[in-house]
Amino acid sequence: MTKRDLPALSIVELRDLLRRGEISPAETLQALEERINAVDDKIGAYLEHDLAAATAEAEKVDMTLPLGGIPIAIKDLINVQGQQCTCGSKILHGYRAPYSATVIEKLRAQGAIPFGRMNMDEFAMGSSTENSSAQVTRNPWDLSRVPGGSSGGSAAAVAADIAFGALGSDTGGSIRQPAALSGIVGFKPSYGRVSRFGLVAFASSLDQIGPLTKTVHDSALLMNAIAGHDSRDSTSLNAPVPDYTKNLGRDLKGIRIGMPEEYMIEGVDPVVKNAVVAAVKQLGSLGAEVVEISLPHTDYAISVYYILATAEASANLARFDGVRYGHRAEKVSNLFDHYARTRAEGFGAEVKRRIILGTYVLSSGYYDAYYLRAQKVRELIRQDFAEAFEKVEALVSPTSPSPAFKLGEKTSDPLQMYLADIFTNAANLAGICGISVPCGFAEPESGKKLPIGLQLLGKALDEARIFQIAHAYEQSTDWHKTRPKI
Ligand code: GLN
Repeated sequence: MTKRDLPALSIVELRDLLRRGEISPAETLQALEERINAVDDKIGAYLEHDLAAATAEAEKVDMTLPLGGIPIAIKDLINVQGQQCTCGSKILHGYRAPYSATVIEKLRAQGAIPFGRMNMDEFAMGSSTENSSAQVTRNPWDLSRVPGGSSGGSAAAVAADIAFGALGSDTGGSIRQPAALSGIVGFKPSYGRVSRFGLVAFASSLDQIGPLTKTVHDSALLMNAIAGHDSRDSTSLNAPVPDYTKNLGRDLKGIRIGMPEEYMIEGVDPVVKNAVVAAVKQLGSLGAEVVEISLPHTDYAISVYYILATAEASANLARFDGVRYGHRAEKVSNLFDHYARTRAEGFGAEVKRRIILGTYVLSSGYYDAYYLRAQKVRELIRQDFAEAFEKVEALVSPTSPSPAFKLGEKTSDPLQMYLADIFTNAANLAGICGISVPCGFAEPESGKKLPIGLQLLGKALDEARIFQIAHAYEQSTDWHKTRPKI
C-alpha cells in the first residue's frame, strides 16, 4: 500500500496501521490533504480545513486510545472551539465557535482528530445540500447529481475517500438519506442517546448527531465514542452505553424483521423497490424471519414532521438577530429595522420559508389546529412503532424513494423535496434509531452507477441490534466495496 491509497481505508483499517506504527497520524493527515487537494474542487465537500492545526493536535495524541490519530470530518453545525461554525448560512458567515460540543470532546477523549468543516443545507433544512449559502456539493458517483442532504458534505467526503468518517446530524433523515444517495453507511441514534450540547439546534425534539462511515463496523466504533449521558443536555438519556461492536459477526437466527406494508407505495422508483426486495430476501437467507407489519399512521408523518420541525425551527432561529452572532445589517434606522434587515439579508429562501411556516402554525388561532394536532398525531406515530416492535426486532424499508437526483431538479418545488422524506421522518418523530446501508445500484442511461440505500429501524436504545443486522447484511454483499471513480 502506498501513501496515496491511504485515504481509501476504512477507520478500522487505518486504526490497525496506526497501531502497528506503520504510519503516523501526521502522515495520515498529509495523505488526506493531498487527496482533498486533488479531488475536492470537483466535489465541494469541505468548507474549511486546517492541516497545520490538525497536525499539531495529531503530534500530541495518545496512540493507545481507541481512535488514536484518526481524522474525523465535522458537519458545519457542530461546534469545535476556534473553528468556523456557519451552519451553511450567510447569517453565521465568519462566526467561530467559542466552545466545543460534547461529541467533539468525546471524540478527542478517544484520540480522534476533528478535521474539516463540511458543507450542508442551511441550518440542516433540505435533502440535497443545494440550500447551502456557501457552495454546491456534488455526488461523487455522478457529478451532475446531488449527494443528498442535509449532511451532504459529510456524506460526499466519505464516499469520495476525502474523509475516513464524519459526523452529521439527522432531524428528519439528514444522515441516512445522504448516506443512501452517496453509497455509504449513515446511522441515526435514538433520541437522547448522543448529546446535543454544542449542536446548533434546528428542531430540538428531533435532532440527533450520528456517524457517516464507509462500513457498519466503523459506524459502531464512532458510536462507542460519542454515545452517553451528558448533564449539559437535559434530553440526554441516562442509560448505560453498550459496546456497539459486541454483536458484530453474530448471525440473524431468531431475529424477526418487519416490512411495513404502507412503505411499499407507488412513487418508489422500481429500481429501488427491486433492490430492497432482494435485500429482504438476503436477510431471510441469513436466518432472519421476515414478516409483514403495519404502521397505520404513516401517511401523516411528512405533514406532522413539517409542522413540528418548522415550529421548533422558528423558535430556535429567533436567536440570530444580528446582536450576538454573525451577520449584522448596516445603516439601520431603528431596532426593528436592524432585526428585519439582518434576517432578510442573512437567511436563505428555504430557511425563511420554514420560519414563516413555523411562526404560522404556532400563532394564536392556528396553534390548536396545527401544532397541537400534530403533537397528537406524533403520539399515534410513536405508538405505531411501539406496537410493531412488540412483534419484530427491526423494520426494513428503502431509505429514499429514488437514487440521487440531478442538481437543480427539485429546487423549484419544495414540496417534491419534502415528499422524498417519506421513509425517514417518522423515525425522528418516534425517537427510534435507524441506519442506511448500501444495497445496490441504479444504472441510468448516463452509464454511471447510482447507489441505493436500505434502511433498518430499531426501537429506542436498541442500536447494538441494528448494527448486528446491518453488519450481517453488509458482510454478505459486495455493495460497500464498489467505489466511485472521480
Ligand atoms: N429533509 C428534511 C428537512 O429538510 C430533513 C432534514 C434533517 O434531517 N436535518 O427538514
